[in-house]
Amino acid sequence: MEEGKEDSVGGNVKVICRFRPLNEREAITGDLIGVNISDDNKNISLQSSTESGEPLKFNFDYVFRTTSQQRQVYEISAKPIVEAVMQGFNGTVFAYGQTSSGKTFTMTGPDLENPETMGVIPRMVTTVFDMISNSDPYIEYAVRVSYCEIYLEKIKDLLDINKTNLKVHEDKTKGVFIAELTERYVAAETDVYEIMKYGLENRNVGSTNMNSQSSRSHSIFLITITQTNNRDYMAKTGKLYLVDLAGSEKVGKTGATGKRLDEAKNINKSLTMLGLVIYSLTDGKSTHIPYRDSKLTRVLQDSLGGNSKTALIITCSPSLYNEAETISTLRFGMRAK
Ligand code: ADP
Ligand code: MG
Repeated sequence: MEEGKEDSVGGNVKVICRFRPLNEREAITGDLIGVNISDDNKNISLQSSTESGEPLKFNFDYVFRTTSQQRQVYEISAKPIVEAVMQGFNGTVFAYGQTSSGKTFTMTGPDLENPETMGVIPRMVTTVFDMISNSDPYIEYAVRVSYCEIYLEKIKDLLDINKTNLKVHEDKTKGVFIAELTERYVAAETDVYEIMKYGLENRNVGSTNMNSQSSRSHSIFLITITQTNNRDYMAKTGKLYLVDLAGSEKVGKTGATGKRLDEAKNINKSLTMLGLVIYSLTDGKSTHIPYRDSKLTRVLQDSLGGNSKTALIITCSPSLYNEAETISTLRFGMRAK
């Protein structure tokens, strides 16, 4: 380990890889990618089916196999972050990967209220309210949530569909924030689930194919926790950004035209900029972090770097059919480390 690395911003970014199980269609042929995961769950060796020679090597903070459970993924990747946010730090959890690799399954899960299958976001919410109910009675908490998406560099409020092009502002007390974004105070998990469901419905409005529109925008669920100590009236605020990124797949060079091509270029650019920002934070050498070059990194500016905690969860298909995309996802994750 580089000297001082653990204390630097680099030590605050963890990259976690998750392979989902084969889906029904893939299971028909059952062709698996040639991946070998080390016993300590940190290293991947991948024998490409198209290139002979040495296997490709990847190293992450943790690699989850196809059999992993939602609870394990939560405990390793996200729980330390929500604990830091409860101490007043900012945190961000991202899911990055091609469409249908398991980003939404990991972040939200198929059922918000099923304790087995619920994803990272509802589990974080549970931890927040558990920690509040077990905390020092002199501390008063206020929890607020917001939900928005970034599509073609425009920020849309998922809790108020009339707000379709919100602006990013910055001031001394609030830091960087989305102006006029709807904020809802919540007192219990069920409040949060209701709001999430409402936002998810809005996310799918206006698109004929449910999966298509949502896979081309970044969704951001924001939880803000303010605590006031009634002994000294000192207050501190932690912001937690939970981001389900747009699908990272490359759009076929010939297929896309017009709007589809604009979307594809736009997604590529914002994911590349995100990679560059994380890379600049972790390499320990960069003096300029290019936050301002995309809406997403601008929004996240004070929750990436500094004392903030970040987890990047890269999600991968285990199918041979998706090998090229999986390699590109693994490379993105490695650069971020
Ligand atoms: P993405 O959000 O990346 O497009 P999804 O999360 O929607 O992908 O996952 C695609 C499909 O695969 C969904 O039907 C989802 O339920 C399933 N899936 C994804 N990850 C897992 C997993 N770890 N275990 C079981 N099913 C999964
Ligand atoms: Mg999704």
